[in-house]
Amino acid sequence: MSRVYNFSAGPAVLPEEVLREAADEMMDYRGCGMSVMEMSHRSKVYDTIIKEAEADLREIMNIPDNYKVLFLQGGASQQFAAIPMNLMKNRKAGYIVTGQWAKKAFQEAKIYGEAIELASSADETFSYIPDCSDLDIPEDLDYVYICENNTIYGTKYKTLPNTKGHILVSDVSSCFLSEPVDVSKYGIIYGGVQKNIGPAGVVIVIIREDLISEDVLPGTPTMLKYKTQADADSLYNTPPCYGIYICGKVFKWIKKMGGLEVMKQRNEEKAKILYDFLDQSKLFKGTVRKEDRSLMNVPFVTGDADLDAKFVAEAKAAGLENLKGHRTVGGMRASIYNAMPKEGVEALVAFMKKFEEENV
Ligand SMILES: *Cc1c(COP(=O)(O)O)cnc(C)c1O
Repeated sequence: MSRVYNFSAGPAVLPEEVLREAADEMMDYRGCGMSVMEMSHRSKVYDTIIKEAEADLREIMNIPDNYKVLFLQGGASQQFAAIPMNLMKNRKAGYIVTGQWAKKAFQEAKIYGEAIELASSADETFSYIPDCSDLDIPEDLDYVYICENNTIYGTKYKTLPNTKGHILVSDVSSCFLSEPVDVSKYGIIYGGVQKNIGPAGVVIVIIREDLISEDVLPGTPTMLKYKTQADADSLYNTPPCYGIYICGKVFKWIKKMGGLEVMKQRNEEKAKILYDFLDQSKLFKGTVRKEDRSLMNVPFVTGDADLDAKFVAEAKAAGLENLKGHRTVGGMRASIYNAMPKEGVEALVAFMKKFEEENV
């Protein structure tokens, strides 16, 4: 067996321990004679798996009792529609556009009502987070929407926007469980799990109970009503069973590692190794305003597209995979999620140093 250092933005690296455990349990899950993939989602065994996953997530994130945890399908992208369908009582919502995912959510919301761009960093290719301390927020907005960590551009909110009392909805797909959060500050926190938690196919929605109701936009599909999913404890229909099982294992791994404070320390330490190198490099340069840098996604460029391509190819040959930047941005991007070991980042920086010596 030979594993590479995988810097993919998503689906992305998972803890080896988790993969090994899943492999051990593949044919016969704890004496029940079948794989988790093969069992009924209504069985007692599966009920324990999904309940434990929820309980562990609640513990890790310290989720207050008045929030529901939903394990859903459709990816983060389906929530771009589900959120306005469920929350747009006045048919008016505010969006802060800090990258492609926020923009997509903003555009989707326009199908259902008036979506207002409260702020944007499009003027500088989304390389920073706008000042959101005193935005002009109309009184009758149903919610304020942000994408908290911008996977493609590598920016992250260090302080949440001042919503002036409005409900905050946050897409945390690419920073989920990367550091502690105060859940009570949000109406909804949600994310696809394939960036920092588990395999593609699961989206986790953490939603304050008073936002769950039958009062949704006309035409909202049954499956997209939070009420349907909350009433059925995510088992209205067949959930993404195997994906949830793997997420559960990752939650246990995080607990064992010491929880979100430890994740944060590890992530800061890893990101520092890479950013410190970028800050003094003669060849490579980070593309994001320093104070807004993400701990998870680190874009960088040489300034020469051919050299970038050469770097990506040579890095791949050296066992450092998926470093090509997003197709809309170019350059490189290293995603260094929870499961990326420090050794992986050190190996990347060592390779960058060598490449710099050979190419400057
Ligand atoms: C990847 C990503 C998405 C899209 O997720 P899907 O599960 O593919 O729909 C949305 N938001 C952010 C921040 C992402 O990183």
